[in-house]
Amino acid sequence: MDRLKGRNCLVTGSARGIGQAIAKAVMLEGGNVTFVDLDGSVADVAREAEKEVGGAGRAIGVQADVTKRDQVRAAIEKTVEEFGSLNVMFNNAGINPPLNFMDVTEENWELVMRVNAWSVLMGTQEAARQMIAQGTGGKVINTGSVAGRQGYGNMAPYSASKAAVLSMTQAAARALAPQKITVNSFAPAVVETPLWEQLDADLHKIGSTKVPGEAVTAFSSLIPLGAAKPEDLTGTALFLASSDSDYMTGQTVLIDGGRFML
Ligand code: NAD
Repeated sequence: MDRLKGRNCLVTGSARGIGQAIAKAVMLEGGNVTFVDLDGSVADVAREAEKEVGGAGRAIGVQADVTKRDQVRAAIEKTVEEFGSLNVMFNNAGINPPLNFMDVTEENWELVMRVNAWSVLMGTQEAARQMIAQGTGGKVINTGSVAGRQGYGNMAPYSASKAAVLSMTQAAARALAPQKITVNSFAPAVVETPLWEQLDADLHKIGSTKVPGEAVTAFSSLIPLGAAKPEDLTGTALFLASSDSDYMTGQTVLIDGGRFML
């Protein structure tokens, strides 16, 4: 309790899934959270979360597209207006529309790279600008994926975008260390969220013979600890957001149930 008391955080892609679980976990540790999502339900999700945590932390919801600089900047400004500062930025929003390798188009590549990679670079810049102005330092935490370490044949742009998250985490960590801003990421394997329902449906569209639900089962069978629930990731996210990780930067923590072992 209270590990993040008085810390003001922004979590992108938090209307549902991993982002929502992280945002609530931050609030339960006393932090205040700006929920940011493209989905119009985000303000209601934030209000509900505030009720659910029973006053442990405050929440606001801002509808924004993480690929648009002016919208990200506005969400950060709103955070400062409501809570006084920005201490922790979670660049979490992402998409995974699968396509057979030979069918990947320029359009598909650009969309996935824009949402998953550009938003992380630009979100880090905007968060850092605010943290530097405050003179407080801060923390940036990016959601990567095991796909950033090992490319998947029907997820080429997604894999490349997550490899970009891994290397941008290192680049930003080096660039921002003088300002006492740490940048780390965590890389899950399979987490049971709506992303998988969408992925299942999309795999079908591109000719997968797997029945609905089979893709997640197939991927999960390779994981010693099985598929994760979003809540299985929050301990790592809180560690990266708290002072416990102050001397750690540029790292990607694999939180993949043992899918990959060094
Ligand atoms: P999800 O689809 O359940 O939630 C993603 C959220 O991001 C949605 O609420 C969506 O509206 C939002 N979003 C999408 N595009 C956006 C945009 N342009 N601007 C603002 N918000 C936007 O997905 P999830 O499983 O919770 O995934 C969260 C992150 O975790 C993603 O980066 C994903 O790549 C990564 N990840 C997920 C898994 C998994 O198995 N679920 C595994 C590894 C990594």
